[in-house]
Amino acid sequence: MDTSTSQKVDPAAVEQPVGRLAPSPTGMLHLGHARSLLLAWWHVRSRNGRVVLRIEDLDTARVRESYTQALLRDMEWLGLDWDEGPHFQSAHTERFHAAAQQLLQRGLAYPCICTRKEIFRSAPHRSDGETPYAGTCSGKFSSLEQALEQTGRRAGLRFQVPAGEIQLEDGFAGSFHSNPADEVGDFTILRRDAAIAYQLSVVVDDAAQGIHEILRGEDLLSSAARQWLLQNALGLPHPTWYHVPLVVDAEGRRLAKRDCDISLAEMRAAGIEPQQLVSWIARHSGIPKAKGQSAAELTPEFDLKRVPRTPLVLDPGSQLDLIQRDN
Ligand SMILES: [Zn+2]
Repeated sequence: MDTSTSQKVDPAAVEQPVGRLAPSPTGMLHLGHARSLLLAWWHVRSRNGRVVLRIEDLDTARVRESYTQALLRDMEWLGLDWDEGPHFQSAHTERFHAAAQQLLQRGLAYPCICTRKEIFRSAPHRSDGETPYAGTCSGKFSSLEQALEQTGRRAGLRFQVPAGEIQLEDGFAGSFHSNPADEVGDFTILRRDAAIAYQLSVVVDDAAQGIHEILRGEDLLSSAARQWLLQNALGLPHPTWYHVPLVVDAEGRRLAKRDCDISLAEMRAAGIEPQQLVSWIARHSGIPKAKGQSAAELTPEFDLKRVPRTPLVLDPGSQLDLIQRDN
């Protein structure tokens, strides 16, 4: 499973892009997930790249084995394949803890005992739901153990975010500015329950698994800056990011895991063929003539530059109708 030792750079393979599919087994896959997975897969495959499958299963409160089985089955049904994996993040947590410890020892992270509630109470609420951390625990504790001893409370770790704006290049969205110090403040890399936070695990695994490029939904654009900072701090390479518009409902809300939204398993049960769904997604992703083809058959047609720059608006109630009627 663990490939951290097998990432020797092969000079002949440097030109070959390596991308990843990184689903979380915290629910059933829906249309929005299928579209993100297909775009990521087509983008790599259409340039003869390698695909790594990584199962992001660190959120143990929400992860279920049945979801893992379901997502593997759904991906197979969609016609997606991969050259490496599945790698389960839960199988190699030691490298995340090593990175967190390294940042603590170098003074780039510090223990924090604040609860979510305390942070929320102490800071102005922002419209996007993020509450920037005010740095309350900065400089107070030298280790997790000392924080516990001194306060009787378990501590997590926060990464100390350097002040200032940074500019990032996105292969799809173009160049963008971000100011993580103002927007989120020092952010969590190790939670108080000792679980590794998303930003850190992604950065460590992308490097360990030799990932050059990441295509994902634009809802994750704001986390790119945090990941870029962590890559700098850990001396890891920056991958190329491609953030693509999401599938949304008429109100602009992200279509995913909502009650009104149907899963791929439900589509399959309703008699939809994978080619119908794949071609429907392709037609809304820059391949207007797609009809009845498989994911692999459409690969040569795919060009990320032709993917529309606006969200794909879809009424959740009409998904089945649309996909059936159009094929
Ligand atoms: Zn704190």
